[in-house]
Amino acid sequence: MQWQNNADLTAQNSFGFSVTAEHYCKVDQIDQLEDALKDVEEHGWPLLVLGGGSNLVLSEKIPGAVISVMTQGVNVLVDDEDSAIVEVGAGENWHDLVGQLLQMGLHGLENLALIPGNVGAAPVQNIGAYGVEMSDCFHSLTAYDMQTKGLVQLSAEECRFGYRDSLFKSIEKGRYIIWSVRFCLSSIFKPVLTYRGLVDYLAEQGINQPSSHQVYKAVCDIRMSKLPSPAIIGNAGSFFENPVVSEADFLSLKLRYQNIVAFKDRAGFYKLAAGWLIDQAGWKGHIAGSVGVYDQQALVLINKGGGDSVALLALASKISDSVESAFGVKLKIEPRVYP
Ligand SMILES: Cc1cc2nc3c(=O)[nH]c(=O)nc-3n(C[C@H](O)[C@H](O)[C@H](O)COP(=O)(O)OP(=O)(O)OC[C@H]3O[C@@H](n4cnc5c(N)ncnc54)[C@H](O)[C@@H]3O)c2cc1C
Repeated sequence: MQWQNNADLTAQNSFGFSVTAEHYCKVDQIDQLEDALKDVEEHGWPLLVLGGGSNLVLSEKIPGAVISVMTQGVNVLVDDEDSAIVEVGAGENWHDLVGQLLQMGLHGLENLALIPGNVGAAPVQNIGAYGVEMSDCFHSLTAYDMQTKGLVQLSAEECRFGYRDSLFKSIEKGRYIIWSVRFCLSSIFKPVLTYRGLVDYLAEQGINQPSSHQVYKAVCDIRMSKLPSPAIIGNAGSFFENPVVSEADFLSLKLRYQNIVAFKDRAGFYKLAAGWLIDQAGWKGHIAGSVGVYDQQALVLINKGGGDSVALLALASKISDSVESAFGVKLKIEPRVYP
């Protein structure tokens, strides 16, 4: 393990902001992680654990330490007649994993194809798309506990998964470094077709009973048509979470805005489409210097080139103020803003 001083992380954050970390290292062995953490403790450095950098808004200078967990491997631990438990290193690429499991005939994650980032970050915000959340196939994980200074196993219940939420993002933020994740997958394919856009897309192709490969391909096609690739336009996917409101608040909004886009959440609550609210408030395609709102999807904020976190957060704040004054709904930023 070797620290790199003043490391350039421009290529390691999907906004493509020019970012320098005071001290940076990569680890794939537990003794390397322990050595790095000793240095962190000794110097009193603040610490950021970095995955693929696709859900972060990083400022120009990152003080203290940044550690990338690079653990690799996709290993079948249990292989029953119709299900399997697979353990995956935190440093594996998420989309590659989805493709690999498909090749292995193991199903459950195909709706989550093409989400950027690493496996280790997937539990942090319980990634979700097209009617599926990572927690639907989650078994357990191994993490380094910074409090007890050792590896621990955490079950799904202990991880407290919610909508774009978990223990790692809320009450125990910064305590655990995820080392490997175990998924419970099925060898029998049961398509999840609750997302209207996916069903419509498949129907347009004349597919009513899709195979897992067809669902995977449809999700990839839809995503590529809707979302900008960070390799071309810097972004972090959805910039705001979809706000969840009570049924009473939803019905009162529905009286005023008959076209409001919303989905039934748990009993008594509705999830409003944040993209619709931002679009209605007039922000779609808005450019503010080097940053802006993507012209094909109002939920995505972009770096047009040369932008930084200050400009982006200023724009985000104007957007949420205007949505709040128009609809009385508070927007919450989805990516982590660091430091
Ligand atoms: C174009 C685009 C589309 C996207 N679409 C979706 C989508 O459909 N659904 C969705 O849910 N998200 C989506 N995202 C967001 C993002 O891809 C996911 O949140 C992804 O899981 C982030 O992975 P990462 O490795 O890049 O994490 P990073 O951005 O590096 O880190 C995210 C958070 O996880 C923490 N973290 C990372 N690795 C570890 C670890 N090993 N242990 C502990 N903490 C760790 C970091 O400290 C940080 O707090 C999208 C992003 C982009 C750019």
